[in-house]
Amino acid sequence: MLVITDPQKMRKYCASISRKGLSIGFVPTMGALHEGHLELVKAAKKRSDVVIVSIFVNPIQFGPKEDFKKYPRDIKKDAALLKKEKVDVLFNPSVEDMIPKDLLSYVEVGKMGDVLCGTSRPGHFRGVATIVAKFFNIIRPDTAFFGAKDFQQQAIIRKMVKDLDMGVEIVTVATVREKSGLAKSSRNAYLSAEQRAQAPALYASLLLAKRMIAAGEKSASKIIVAIKKNILSRTDFVVDYVSIVDSETFEEKKTIKRPVLIAVAAYLGKTRLIDNILV
Ligand code: AMP
Repeated sequence: MLVITDPQKMRKYCASISRKGLSIGFVPTMGALHEGHLELVKAAKKRSDVVIVSIFVNPIQFGPKEDFKKYPRDIKKDAALLKKEKVDVLFNPSVEDMIPKDLLSYVEVGKMGDVLCGTSRPGHFRGVATIVAKFFNIIRPDTAFFGAKDFQQQAIIRKMVKDLDMGVEIVTVATVREKSGLAKSSRNAYLSAEQRAQAPALYASLLLAKRMIAAGEKSASKIIVAIKKNILSRTDFVVDYVSIVDSETFEEKKTIKRPVLIAVAAYLGKTRLIDNILV
């Protein structure tokens, strides 16, 4: 596995791959890799001649009070995992190389970035879209792979690619979960043993919503109340939001008409966990 840190070297390498007529599959990550990330890598391996994984903890997608500094980083362990998956290139640029001090140009993502996670994380999706656009410009991948766990993120990237004619195919990979149902996440590492035992309640509450809909419940507000009660009554979760929205536009739904996205974000202590299901 090649490890490249210099964006210009990365660009040259990718251009040479494309000239040979080989397809490039790209998996952007922030590292602290787990099986969720590795599913994206496996999907990329199946569909691409050359697989590039980036590890970059992107400062412009973190709010001033968020966990940028203490975000888990273990590049050696991550590199070993990627090597085992037979990834071709690990791209691990520095913050200085990716984010010039005088950065002026950003990708604005409009109202799609202001709802759901955007409400409590203003500017987050602008930071995500901007860095993904930069990676796309350096790598020029044929296909890029994103996880359904961050549903809003993959939807915003799809919209960006369409709006700006980026010509990258976006593939969304299903959420990988622990046996308990808890979505795998780098941030799970922050949880204490007690919090870890409570964390599966987040997904359990989504399954309850799914059962309510299957049983004929049409009122979004009733389902939202049930989810909140279900999470709060059994755990120390503090709910950030529970939303039932159109899965493409993210407009709030009052009445359930399939397909809808049910998305939740909640804090266990200082750790913010998210999850969602499409119903
Ligand atoms: P992150 O490193 O958290 O920025 O995630 C990098 C990519 O991995 C994103 O596209 C995430 O949606 C995806 N991802 C993270 N956790 C999971 C999971 N449990 N299942 C599937 N994809 C995931």
